[in-house]
Amino acid sequence: MTVTSDSEPVAAVVVAAGSGVRLGGSTPKALREVGGRTLVRRSVELVVAAGAKAVAVVIADGQRVGFEAALTGMTTPLSVVEGGAERQDSVRAGLAALESLAPQARIVLVHDAARPLVPDSVTRAVIAAVGRGAVAAIPVIPVADSIRLVEADSSIVVDRTPLRAVQTPQGFRLRELIEAHELVHRAGLHVTDDAAACEAAGHHVELVPGSRESIKITEAVDLVLAEAIVSRRNRAGNEEGSGGV
Ligand code: C5P
Repeated sequence: MTVTSDSEPVAAVVVAAGSGVRLGGSTPKALREVGGRTLVRRSVELVVAAGAKAVAVVIADGQRVGFEAALTGMTTPLSVVEGGAERQDSVRAGLAALESLAPQARIVLVHDAARPLVPDSVTRAVIAAVGRGAVAAIPVIPVADSIRLVEADSSIVVDRTPLRAVQTPQGFRLRELIEAHELVHRAGLHVTDDAAACEAAGHHVELVPGSRESIKITEAVDLVLAEAIVSRRNRAGNEEGSGGV
């Protein structure tokens, strides 16, 4: 029997507790705006549009007022919780919040608030892959730049052909992701994304095509590109841009 996401409730964790130092400015990164809407609101809206029925939003200490204002008027059940020092600590806090916010959830999306422009087709493909039985499904794109491995006093070229850049939202079977994060936490492992936590727990990670438009807002130039993408979408009246695995 094929199990689809139609029969399995989807929840999401949107992590927005990073310091955003590379972007600069006094406003928390996720409260910066693109096309007149904050990054966090866009990120929450995109996971909801793809099917998430409840969202835990993870923020840094002392930023509750600004984030609650940014999320005003959303009708989807939300829980705004404080994160931790590392991204993986913030994800764990979000997963813990889902236990009471969405006890029926079986599939979870974990998404960086710093990626506000993910095309709906990508998010739906991630959910569908988990609905078909993947424990972990993640969007990836080929690496466009030439890559060099830097050593102490030299560098060597790396074949980029088999390399993929990893994006969010990443999708998981909720129970397995909770257990994977508990395992890496207990083992004191550092992971930069949730797929790596699942892999450390012995699960296969399925790749789905990501998008060049799922940019991660890191530096000021990324906001310029994001504004251009939003303007073009507004002119075109749709969302495009899927890449390829
Ligand atoms: O710093 P990095 O690029 O890994 O951040 C990716 C995402 O994780 C961002 O949306 C950031 O807000 C979030 N994050 C977090 N808690 C941390 C570090 C990062 O929620 N301690």
